[in-house]
Amino acid sequence: MLEAKKLHFCIKKKPILDQASICIKSGELTALIGPNGAGKSTLFKLLSGEARCQLGSISYNRHPIETLKSNQLATLRAVMPQHSSVTFPFRALEVVELGLVLSKQSFASSTIQKVMKATSTWHLRDQLVDNLSGGERQRVQLARVLAQIWEPKPFPRYLLLDEPTSSMDIAQQHHVLQVVSQLKHKNIGILAILHDLNLAANYSDAVVLLKEGVVVKQGPTRKILTPENLEQVFDYPIQVSAKEPHQPIFISSLPTNKTAPMYNYKLA
Ligand code: ADP
Ligand code: MG
Repeated sequence: MLEAKKLHFCIKKKPILDQASICIKSGELTALIGPNGAGKSTLFKLLSGEARCQLGSISYNRHPIETLKSNQLATLRAVMPQHSSVTFPFRALEVVELGLVLSKQSFASSTIQKVMKATSTWHLRDQLVDNLSGGERQRVQLARVLAQIWEPKPFPRYLLLDEPTSSMDIAQQHHVLQVVSQLKHKNIGILAILHDLNLAANYSDAVVLLKEGVVVKQGPTRKILTPENLEQVFDYPIQVSAKEPHQPIFISSLPTNKTAPMYNYKLA
C-alpha cells in the first residue's frame, strides 16, 4: 500500500495541502480529481518523492519514504509528471530506454518493444521527441514509465500519472487507460490525476476528491462520484447517470446561470 497521512504543505506561508491523507492499494486504479489549483500536482510530487512533505508521513509498503534510497524508490514506483521536458535531442526509443536506466534494469529490448507497442509508439521510435505532437509525446513518456515497471516483481509497486491523457484524442485516452488498467494484474497500484470525469468513473476502482488542499471524499468510485459530491468539489451542477452496478457511468454538465464568483463579470 502507498499511504500518506496528514500531509501538510505550504508555499510562502500559503497552505497548499491541509491534513491530506490518501491510500493507494496495489491492484487498484485510484483517480485523483479536483478543480484547477486544488493541490493535486503538489500531492502527487510529495507521493512520488520529488518534494519533501513538511508535516505528515508517506510510506511505500510500510517503508517510510525518507528511508528509501533513490534506486529502491525507482523499483517501487514509476512517475509520469504533468509536464515532462526533454532537454537533449532524444529519439523516442532513447526516452523509453531511460525507464530501464532509472530502475537499473539490464537493457531488455523485448520490454522496450512491448511497451512501445502497447502505447502505439513503436512506429515513432526513430523520431526526435521534439518533433512529435503533444499526444504522441505523452504516449512516449508513458512508454518510458511502463518500461520501468513492466517486468513482474514479487512485491506491490505503484504507477503515478499526473494528467496522463490531457493531450490525447478520445480514442487514445481510452486505449491508454485500458493499457494502464492491465497493470493491476501485476500487483501494481495506479494513481492517476484525471480531469475527464467519464474516464475516471469508468476506469477507476477508487476516487479521491480534493478541493483547496483538503481531501473532501475518498472511497469506491460509484459511492463517491455522486452529483452532490461533484457539485461540492467543482461548484457547478454535474449530472451522473449510473443505472445498474455493472453498467457504464455517464457524467455530464450543461450550461447554467450558476457561475463561480471569479467568473462573475460582464464583458464590455
Ligand atoms: P492542481 O494540480 O490541482 O491544479 P497544484 O498542486 O499545481 O494544483 O497547485 C496548487 C496551488 O499551489 C495553486 O494555487 C498553485 O498556484 C500553487 N503553487 C503550486 N506550486 C507553486 C509554486 N512553486 N509557487 C507558488 N505557488 C505554487
Ligand atoms: Mg496539476
